[in-house]
Amino acid sequence: MTVEPGAEFALIGAHFAGLGAAREDVLLGVGDDCALLRVPPGQSLAVSLDTLVAGVHFFPDCDPHALGHKTLAVSLSDLAAMGAEPAWATLALTLPASDPAWLAAFAAGLGELARAHGVRLVGGDTTRGPLTITLQLQGLVPPESALRRDGARAGDRIWVSGTLGDAALALAELQAGRDPDAALRARLERPTPRVALGRALRGVASAAIDLSDGLVADLGHVLAASGVGAELQLGALPLGEAVATRADWSLALAGGDDYELCFCAPPGRDGEILALGQRLGCRLTPVGIIRGDGDALRCLLPDGTELNPTRKGYDHFAGA
Ligand code: ADP
Ligand code: MG
Repeated sequence: MTVEPGAEFALIGAHFAGLGAAREDVLLGVGDDCALLRVPPGQSLAVSLDTLVAGVHFFPDCDPHALGHKTLAVSLSDLAAMGAEPAWATLALTLPASDPAWLAAFAAGLGELARAHGVRLVGGDTTRGPLTITLQLQGLVPPESALRRDGARAGDRIWVSGTLGDAALALAELQAGRDPDAALRARLERPTPRVALGRALRGVASAAIDLSDGLVADLGHVLAASGVGAELQLGALPLGEAVATRADWSLALAGGDDYELCFCAPPGRDGEILALGQRLGCRLTPVGIIRGDGDALRCLLPDGTELNPTRKGYDHFAGA
């Protein structure tokens, strides 16, 4: 422990004790050596952990409220991709200093999204060092209805939610020293995790993944896990206006941070899926088909020729 103990406990008490939704299955939350949580019979625990490092995952001067939102949103997106109901979070915070205004805004951003999804912060760890944020999110899903990466079968249609490439374009704009408009910037800084969609896809989707590293890389994980190939129709990719005007496929194919869902389902489920999208107010677009002959991902341009995507997605250790 490197932060002065009295200050550390005051910080935790002021900003993180009792954050998020009240839940009856939290027998003991922040304040003891462990949290005690009740897992209902028949449910498995779905556990996901993500780390955000200043200068790698976000600009160090990033709005702390947005950062609090994004910290939870990326983990909610993982649970969404499994069809799990989010329940409990733990938070490891490494801070260069104890800045009450920064902490209050960060906790507010995190707490608002937590309450919206019924999540309670039940514990964590607080240390001093370069700004690094790790959140572990736990949720519940009956093991037999979890949406896994290994269930895609030849003939399944490939679907994506929302639009692709917006976050990558917002990031490119910021890196070029320009100011993306508010809606585009929000796609990068305040992503919307597709939790209700993932839950509704239980029993419908054969496989699912969330798009954090780009469609080619993430769909590639589904193909590898399922032992299948696929064909993507690039002309069908759902693009927002700003991305569409760029005429740059790499934004939608290799741009990270969209936190949309990519899922597969037999064509017999098309009607159900479109109805589900309408009910949830979420755009759902068929973008390709799973192939059983080989394990390659082929990207077909609108004229039928094949594009060989060069940038496949973000890799922290590429070239290391
Ligand atoms: P220990 O030394 O027993 O591991 P800590 O001193 O690290 O406990 O933490 C005291 C309590 O505060 C624990 O219940 C822990 O889960 C909680 N806690 C510490 N940091 C955070 C945080 N950033 N967010 C939420 N809870 C936290
Ligand atoms: Mg500790």
